[in-house]
Amino acid sequence: MKNIAENIPTLTQKIREYEDLYKRPSGSVSLLAVSKKQTQDKIRQAAAVGIRSFGENYLQEALHKIKNLTDMDLSWHFLGSIQTNKTRKIAEYFDWVQSVDREKIAYRLSSQRPESSPPLNVCVQIKLSNEEKKSGAEVEHATKLCSLIASLPNLQLRGLMAIPAPLPDLESQRTCFRRLKLAFTNLKKSHSSIDTLSMGMSNDFEAAVAEGSTMVRLGSAIFGPRI
Ligand SMILES: *Cc1c(COP(=O)(O)O)cnc(C)c1O
Repeated sequence: MKNIAENIPTLTQKIREYEDLYKRPSGSVSLLAVSKKQTQDKIRQAAAVGIRSFGENYLQEALHKIKNLTDMDLSWHFLGSIQTNKTRKIAEYFDWVQSVDREKIAYRLSSQRPESSPPLNVCVQIKLSNEEKKSGAEVEHATKLCSLIASLPNLQLRGLMAIPAPLPDLESQRTCFRRLKLAFTNLKKSHSSIDTLSMGMSNDFEAAVAEGSTMVRLGSAIFGPRI
């Protein structure tokens, strides 16, 4: 594991190579740096080499970082599971929430989004077939949930996110992501605001780019092991 300032251009280069290899438009896959359980200093190091978007899973830890890093003009994505008592702070402090998986959370995020803020960008988290007890909406339920989100005044429906269980090889990873891509393509037909397919982490982002990801979420590949 090299340092963050070297990892980021290396990973960006890799993403560009995969776009090329799998006939994706150059620059169509963006990089979200997942900074959960990483220090503020490491976030500053990543920001210093051009990263602007960071993902966090744990609300208290994230709020601490967001409040301490206001000088950096960063964009924050909430990725963790959402209990109802957490929605107010999430709506107040984040730019994106990628882990919305039920109606109640969508209603609360919209009603609690401050009027002075732009609409909160939302992805619906989908549970893929090989997951056991992770959160996420069933793919069959996504249509209804997306329609609700699109109708709420302070939310902007952006797309889908999933966290598949680890799979050992490229082909099985691709098969899994293909299912999410299919759901994404179908939902896009009824919602013009949908432009984000958030899939791919440190160990499977090649497969995700191959299957149409528009945003990969890399944590350990950028920052090293979590503390
Ligand atoms: C932790 C996490 C990541 C990053 O995982 P790595 O394997 O470290 O790249 C991405 N997405 C979500 C939702 C996560 O919880």
